[in-house]
Amino acid sequence: MSRLDSFIRRLTAQRDILNAIVELVDGREGPVLEFGLGNGRTYDHLREQFPDRRIIAFDREVRSYSSSTPPAENMVTGDIRQSGQDFLGIGAALAHADIGTGHDDIDAITLTWLPQLMEGVLAPGGIAVSGLPLERDALEPLPLPPGIKEGRYFIYRRR
Ligand code: SAM
Repeated sequence: MSRLDSFIRRLTAQRDILNAIVELVDGREGPVLEFGLGNGRTYDHLREQFPDRRIIAFDREVRSYSSSTPPAENMVTGDIRQSGQDFLGIGAALAHADIGTGHDDIDAITLTWLPQLMEGVLAPGGIAVSGLPLERDALEPLPLPPGIKEGRYFIYRRR
């Protein structure tokens, strides 16, 4: 598979999952956390899916399109490993992390802290969506929507 095919499949998986989890999140209290704003594509999609909810985005710095940039009070800059700690216990209904790099050595370091952070920011019953696997007893893996290959993206419910 070419890198272009792989990229298209990853974005398709993201979109299909972010659409599929809406019904799991609706009816739950709490904000949405977007770890890895990037250029704001998935932030913009989340904003469409959850128009009445606070969405807090995180990245090292703001590099998103101006139309997909959160208001200053909902934008947290810096390394998520540290900046995310201030949000432990916030009771998020949904946390989405798109901070994998495709480089195993870098992602292995991210995986030393991301699963705990995702568990810690979610309310019980809250949903985690991640491009990297989150192995935590408190995070129950959920099935992917039809058509998405196992291991491409991951969904969990906080027990
Ligand atoms: N989902 C985004 C979109 O649709 O536009 C793309 C996210 S991009 C793949 C990953 C982003 O995560 C990058 O902008 C990168 O700076 C950010 N990132 C990765 N690791 C980070 C960390 N430890 N702290 C802060 N930002 C991080």
